[in-house]
Amino acid sequence: MVVTRFAPSPNGPLHLGHAYSAITAHDLARDAQGRFLLRIEDIDGPRSRPELADEFRRDLEWLGLEWDEVPAQSSRLDSYREAANQLLSEGLLYPCTCTRAHVEAMAPRLGPEGLIYPGTCRGRSLNPDLPFALRLDVETAMERAGEAMWDDAIRGAQQADPREFGDVVLVRKDAPASYHLAATLDDAADGVTLVTRGMDLFAASHIHRLLQGVLGLPVPRWHHHALLFDRDGKLAKRKGSPSLADRRRGGEDGRSLADALRENRFPAGITLANA
Ligand code: GLU
Ligand code: ZN
Repeated sequence: MVVTRFAPSPNGPLHLGHAYSAITAHDLARDAQGRFLLRIEDIDGPRSRPELADEFRRDLEWLGLEWDEVPAQSSRLDSYREAANQLLSEGLLYPCTCTRAHVEAMAPRLGPEGLIYPGTCRGRSLNPDLPFALRLDVETAMERAGEAMWDDAIRGAQQADPREFGDVVLVRKDAPASYHLAATLDDAADGVTLVTRGMDLFAASHIHRLLQGVLGLPVPRWHHHALLFDRDGKLAKRKGSPSLADRRRGGEDGRSLADALRENRFPAGITLANA
């Protein structure tokens, strides 16, 4: 059975790009008589505004989508801790006390998620007084996982090579899991078989595939869809592109909007493109 999901973070209102993503995942499940899941990814520390989750549900309803909701990330912290402990006991995580300023001062290269951490704390003994994050030793994890292939519905067969991320954070200083760890564990727990999301997260799938390998999780397929752009670039919450809630409150017909997006008919100034 095909199981897809839409996994928004309640740190800002949903916009057209989210609608496109949710509709894509919804329709892939519907067309295969599968299931479409909604998962609220609400562990983004102080940026998380739980009250937005209700708005998200109203937005999806307004678009005419039907879904099954699975537990929000904030109710799954134990499973993140358990997985982190397993990786720690296997020597795949190490504590890192560096601050952003430390990392910047080391003048590292830029990767898909910002500066690539140069591995400074790997093999270093920890100063117990400092707050620490836990980072994945990516080289060692790749050796343990062996050849890790994954399949993208649009780009085809891929071999996981997350080295361009450097040693990513799996447990944050301020939260029991990073996005990478939480989303990977949840997709497995929710039985997701087709991870559907925007092309902007294509690179992250290399990390997620590696994590599946070292955690012994089932390997789904992925569908990374193209993204909506306006004149200033990719639509994003922070740029204040009109939100779905604004459109809904303004009396726009959500189902017609959904059908337009399905047919790649976009409002003026909006285009679809790969990242
Ligand atoms: N919560 C992530 C976001 O809103 C999406 C995660 C995913 O689809 O894997 O950007
Ligand atoms: Zn460090």
